[in-house]
Amino acid sequence: MHIVVSGGAGFLGSHLCETLLDRGDSVTCVDNLVTGREENLSHIRKNPRFTFLTVDVTDRDALDLALGDVPVDAVAHLASAASPPDYHRIPLETLLVGSRGTENMLELADRHGARFILASTSEVYGDPAVHPQREDYWGNVNPTGPRSVYDEAKRYAEAVTTAYGRSRGTNVGIVRIFNTYGPRMRAIDGRVVTSFIAQALNGDSLSIYGDGSQTRSFCYVDDLIRGLIALLDSTETGPVNIGNPAERTVASLAELIVALSGSQSEIEYFPLPIDDPTRRKPNIDLAMRSLQWSPRVGILQGLKQTIAWFASRPEEVRNAAPF
Ligand code: NAD
Repeated sequence: MHIVVSGGAGFLGSHLCETLLDRGDSVTCVDNLVTGREENLSHIRKNPRFTFLTVDVTDRDALDLALGDVPVDAVAHLASAASPPDYHRIPLETLLVGSRGTENMLELADRHGARFILASTSEVYGDPAVHPQREDYWGNVNPTGPRSVYDEAKRYAEAVTTAYGRSRGTNVGIVRIFNTYGPRMRAIDGRVVTSFIAQALNGDSLSIYGDGSQTRSFCYVDDLIRGLIALLDSTETGPVNIGNPAERTVASLAELIVALSGSQSEIEYFPLPIDDPTRRKPNIDLAMRSLQWSPRVGILQGLKQTIAWFASRPEEVRNAAPF
């Protein structure tokens, strides 16, 4: 297959491009590098089945011009700022890539009769009143809160994706991704796993916002990519949750990262930001049933691999402090 991956220079996108190439597909990556890094692709740049195009997917003309007449069998739309510091820095761009960017990628898929998958997020559930979150839960999102630029962009992206499926018959699939971690995250991206690892490796105090009793469920990147590809290869429309249901408090995550890093770091507590969800855990029954997917990598193994990756980049980690 020839697959167009938007956001392919980012954390998840680069792993997706690599895995698709490994199994023999051809990949065209479109990315404007607003939060992605070319170095994430350095090991695949020379692959003759890989093309990288620097383009903003919200610009339809530029996108069409850049892609030219490449064949398109599938489109994986991952382009979007994803971490809170990023989408707070570029709020309007985040809304735009979720709305116009998604429409442009849907048009591309529709024109080619291609499969389209949307990387949505567990953030569509907001601060959930239902636990664990099943796909039929509609969510509890503050439409004007500080996180709304991301949450509502993704909710619109889901709505427009569904509308293309219903009204045009586009072959669409929506995946709601829960917190995912692994190599190629940026030390400064502000997500809890990276912040804790960088702080532990620097010997700084780990910053917990709130009392640390809030929970998250962490999925290792290899598991997530296997789920994305299972969705890509299926005709499942979703939305389908992909994440690791092993729930953990933020405080216990901090302690585990300190221990695995061999660090002497202390833990410091700060006030909880507005609208920070208190519990997050996917119900993955649908993914298990329709995609035969379930996670395989436990938190110990995943964290060890992630910590080792950051430890091999001391300069980036040093420059990430303080948070
Ligand atoms: P990332 O920031 O590492 O990657 C996003 C990529 O999109 C970057 O390379 C960025 O440059 C690119 N991009 C942003 N706007 C663009 C635009 N207008 N045109 C072209 N490229 C653009 O983030 P990530 O963690 O890899 O997330 C990838 C996708 O998965 C996002 O859509 C995100 O919402 C979703 N997601 C991720 C997680 C997670 O835990 N990592 C959780 C839920 C959802």
